[in-house]
Amino acid sequence: MRANVWYGTEQLRVEDVPDPKILNPRDAIVRITSTAICGSDLHIYDGYIPGMLPGDIIGHEFMGEVVEVGSAITNLRPGDRVVNPFPIACGACFFCQQSLHSLCENSNPNAWLAEKLWGHSPAGLFGYSHLLGGYAGGQAQFARIPFADVGPIKIPAHLTDEQVLFLSDIFPTGYMAAEQCGIREGDTVAVFGCGPVGLFAIKSARLLGAERVIAIDRFPARLRKASQWADAETLNYEQVEVLEALDVMTGGRGPDACIDAVGMEGHAHGAIGSYDRIKQSLMLETDRPPALRQALTACRNGGTVSIPGVYGGLLDKIPFGAVVNKALTIRSGQTHVQRYLKPLLELIEKGSIDPAFVVSHRLPLEEAPRAYRMFRDKQDSCIKVVLKPWEQVPTVKAEEATNRILH
Ligand code: NAD
Ligand code: ZN
Ligand code: ZN
Repeated sequence: MRANVWYGTEQLRVEDVPDPKILNPRDAIVRITSTAICGSDLHIYDGYIPGMLPGDIIGHEFMGEVVEVGSAITNLRPGDRVVNPFPIACGACFFCQQSLHSLCENSNPNAWLAEKLWGHSPAGLFGYSHLLGGYAGGQAQFARIPFADVGPIKIPAHLTDEQVLFLSDIFPTGYMAAEQCGIREGDTVAVFGCGPVGLFAIKSARLLGAERVIAIDRFPARLRKASQWADAETLNYEQVEVLEALDVMTGGRGPDACIDAVGMEGHAHGAIGSYDRIKQSLMLETDRPPALRQALTACRNGGTVSIPGVYGGLLDKIPFGAVVNKALTIRSGQTHVQRYLKPLLELIEKGSIDPAFVVSHRLPLEEAPRAYRMFRDKQDSCIKVVLKPWEQVPTVKAEEATNRILH
């Protein structure tokens, strides 16, 4: 089959690899019809995720058609159309029983590696390093799904791939980020980052009853999406001083909740931006957390800071004094996607939300390396790329190719 394979920082190749096979009775094999690139994949692309090996197939947002099931699988059969959650979860352990699927204690065969870094290991994830299980990812034509009786959800035929694909990750992620804010009537929620995760957090905060949502980013296309899709007020942090603006907008009290949908590769101008970059390049700090610092500082007394943005290791200059002295609640985690599949699919079916709204680009899987660059650098106002594993790259004439690049 064809798959998007990681060879090192910014080095991806779409190449032939062996087809996956059923290894365990609870496995299923899915023929992938749509897959997407996540902000978390950028951390791999940019070389910040430890435990990657050249030759690893990446990608964790995918859906498709079941083509084969193991002997213990009774809930799925070949021909079923499914979306697959990115954490791998057994469904039976201490954590799975509490619906904390991204903490499953049976799905990371390399738990000892993660324990060295974090004390305890979370669940294994698709296509996300050997630290998190070494599972082949879903930017490919097929994938093997372990614990297929727990993860995948069946999708009715009348919904399009793009309406349901993001159940695999970013819709539940934005939703959990907003849910963790404990939103009450009249609340104002500030969302740092208007990438796909931020946009779903913004929309979900609205669905959960936030009166005002303030969206922060520097890319006009993303800020526009936030205001069009969820009627968010927007702040471009290149044009205003964010902390000051948030204070003014909330009568000096601060937002009731702040969501950090930026994560470990945060961007900042000026001294603090250079400080993080230098410390990171000298390996004195693993992550760049300007948005987290601002979220903690901006949040009102007694408020909640919800952190879907992924951080990997050690962060510097975190104003932890603000957490204690302002009595903040901090919530975070890789998303417990399995818990949200059914209720969020219902919201899509009811028409409360159309997730396809975030898609800005559709490309054949063969173009994955270009798609990663475009998504990372926000070229062509890129917001979210869907890759099609079975589409051929159209042959374009030389002058058309030039036009495409100029455009
Ligand atoms: P993305 O890179 O497209 O979006 C990040 C956005 O943050 C960009 O639009 C960028 O301009 C903006 N940004 C950068 N610095 C900022 C700052 N200082 N202030 C405000 N905005 C800033 O990625 P995404 O797909 O939206 O993912 C966002 C984060 O969520 C990533 O860290 C990703 O790993 C994480 N994530 C977490 C989970 C989970 O389960 N917790 C799931 C999916 C993604
Ligand atoms: Zn993701
Ligand atoms: Zn489990």
